[in-house]
Amino acid sequence: MSVDSLIIGEGPAGVTAALYLARSGVSVALVEQMTTGGQILQTAELENYPGYPKGIKGYELADLFAAHIEGLDNCTRTQAQVTAITGEAGHFTVSLSNGKTIEAKTILVCTGAKHRMLGVPREKELTGSGVSYCALCDGNFFRGKTVAVVGGGNAALEESLYLSKIVAKIHLIHRRDAFRARKVYEDRLRALGDAVSFHLGYTVTALHGEGSLNAITIQSVAGKEEETIPVSAIFVYVGFEPVTSFLPQEIAKDPQGFLVTDTEMRTSIPGIYAAGDIRSKLCRQVITAAGDGATAAQAAFVFLEQLHG
Ligand SMILES: Cc1cc2nc3c(=O)[nH]c(=O)nc-3n(C[C@H](O)[C@H](O)[C@H](O)COP(=O)(O)OP(=O)(O)OC[C@H]3O[C@@H](n4cnc5c(N)ncnc54)[C@H](O)[C@@H]3O)c2cc1C
Repeated sequence: MSVDSLIIGEGPAGVTAALYLARSGVSVALVEQMTTGGQILQTAELENYPGYPKGIKGYELADLFAAHIEGLDNCTRTQAQVTAITGEAGHFTVSLSNGKTIEAKTILVCTGAKHRMLGVPREKELTGSGVSYCALCDGNFFRGKTVAVVGGGNAALEESLYLSKIVAKIHLIHRRDAFRARKVYEDRLRALGDAVSFHLGYTVTALHGEGSLNAITIQSVAGKEEETIPVSAIFVYVGFEPVTSFLPQEIAKDPQGFLVTDTEMRTSIPGIYAAGDIRSKLCRQVITAAGDGATAAQAAFVFLEQLHG
């Protein structure tokens, strides 16, 4: 297959880019390794996406995104993982996990980010047996139990609010002495009283349990005081890492590994654009990913026009 633009990822950035490019009349290939939605499939409820004053569940928004790109003119969709990109603007070859390749004149990288691990011994062994990175996926297994949540950003506090409706008690652990999350989330959690214990200035140092998690040890950053807390699960929200392993090594990244772009979403490699959480930027949200996707699509369209003369 040979197309004008190949878009990698069907999260908010990729879906938006596909809508804009297909409507411009260029041929588009959209490649997604899993299913439409990206990280919003791990999000219980979004309260900050315009047009939904009562909020919308992550899976509902993902379904709406999927419906919007269903049967799009000029757009071929493939379920596979992109494993490598070679070539140059006008003549890229994209390798897929199914052994096939797609030729593309331009590429839009919308591969987002994946959760970072806590980095504590036995974390891998206990993943799926009490250690989780997705409250929406696993929270219900711990109905009525005591759990821990680690992290101080929006995701940690939003998902704690989600869990508070399911579990009996939450220990919320954050290494700094203040949260980075929106104040409204902290206020709502504090209003829950004893159902949430706050451990600010603490890190998790050990996971306990044979076969499945039954306790964690936390240590204060300042005083090195330790406490072991019985919990049935720990939900980890300590940041995200960009998904870039399939890209040419020479592509410019920031010190955290996110792709550096200009305001038109151009990366350091001509013909390759980046949109959404994969980019080096201040705010990683659905609305900003969608905005990036629209800009990247328009920039790729202008580039294609120049290429075609
Ligand atoms: C728990 C949680 C709560 C959140 N809450 C909110 C909120 O309330 N409001 C808000 O606005 N935002 C929220 N966010 C953030 C928001 O979901 C992200 O900013 C947004 O989804 C980023 O969109 P994206 O398209 O850049 O990437 P993603 O959503 O990460 O999508 C990337 C897609 O690319 C695919 N992909 C990756 N690598 C490859 C490959 N090599 N080949 C093929 N496909 C690939 C992935 O499978 C995925 O579908 C939350 C995120 C999390 C995790």
